[in-house]
Amino acid sequence: MTAFAPLTDGFGRVHTNLRISVTDRCNIRCFYCMPETVRFMPRSEVLSYEEIERFAGVLAKLGIERIRLTGGEPLVRNGLETLVAKLARIEGIRDIAMTTNGLLLADKAAALKQAGLHRLNISLDGLSEETFKKISRREGLSKVLDGIFAAQRAGFEKIRLNAVSIRGLTEVEIIPLGGFARQHNMQLRFIEFMPLDADGKWQTDQVLNGAEVRRMLEAEFGPLEPLPRSDASQPAVDYRFADGVGSIGFINPVSQPFCGDCNRLRITAEGKVRNCLFSHEEWDARALLRGGASDEDIANLVRESIAAKKPGHGIDEEGFLKPARAMYQIGG
Ligand code: SAM
Repeated sequence: MTAFAPLTDGFGRVHTNLRISVTDRCNIRCFYCMPETVRFMPRSEVLSYEEIERFAGVLAKLGIERIRLTGGEPLVRNGLETLVAKLARIEGIRDIAMTTNGLLLADKAAALKQAGLHRLNISLDGLSEETFKKISRREGLSKVLDGIFAAQRAGFEKIRLNAVSIRGLTEVEIIPLGGFARQHNMQLRFIEFMPLDADGKWQTDQVLNGAEVRRMLEAEFGPLEPLPRSDASQPAVDYRFADGVGSIGFINPVSQPFCGDCNRLRITAEGKVRNCLFSHEEWDARALLRGGASDEDIANLVRESIAAKKPGHGIDEEGFLKPARAMYQIGG
């Protein structure tokens, strides 16, 4: 039940989807997201589980129904299942998902499922250790695969695998990933490389776009047929293979921006509200949470952020400036 007016921005977009970053820390160092050498923020700056619970509770009254936990790597934060259980008890929250790199999932999958986590997106850019190392600057592909299968055994259905597509690097991974997803009955989504790397080295020509990836998959596995959109705000355009085995989604924020249907807002690990991945402005919820503010004050802060939301991310516009934060500091 929505107790306050819903979170509608100046373009009529109603916000029902909250992404919560629980940490900026990560156990790998993907070049598209983080610097090689990184100084993480002090733990005292990071919102406690109780602070996150309160914030999510206020937003549920503003019509937020879906939550995704992200980071950094959410599973490096101790006892994440405790947070999941707290969020699962909030009235109005009907879907709790998490995006993870899967490295710690083998140990955690059952506890997360039991705590009330509904869905999992697991990042898997390729199936070769060589590509894994080139991207993450660490080892660990076999642990990720262990985590994926442990999640299946724990009862997570429709596991989504997220693969970032980068020209000159991930082409060799596309067919193996397609075969893997088909074989193991998982949804595979290719995401275009966005200008959110910490090193500021992103170049347009590194974006291996969804249309190209689609052509490669069709050449190997046969035609892809568009699936009906079940949710207008979903970032992916989904297809199924004409032979009936498996489905593939394309998240094309660079070549086909989907901002017009965006229903998402974010809170960073230290409690800054962001109305867009690419926003240059933030609203400090932590100051309110730690300063004795009322629920109405917190609601007003979020309303202010939503009211300031721009029509689009602007990557495609002249003069685009990437945000000062990199992806790991925002929460993907
Ligand atoms: N650590 C978790 C993980 O790896 O899934 C969650 C956080 S990570 C920032 C969330 C997602 O963002 C991952 O699927 C990652 O591949 C994606 N990502 C990070 N940087 C990106 C970029 N510059 N462009 C596109 N996707 C990116």
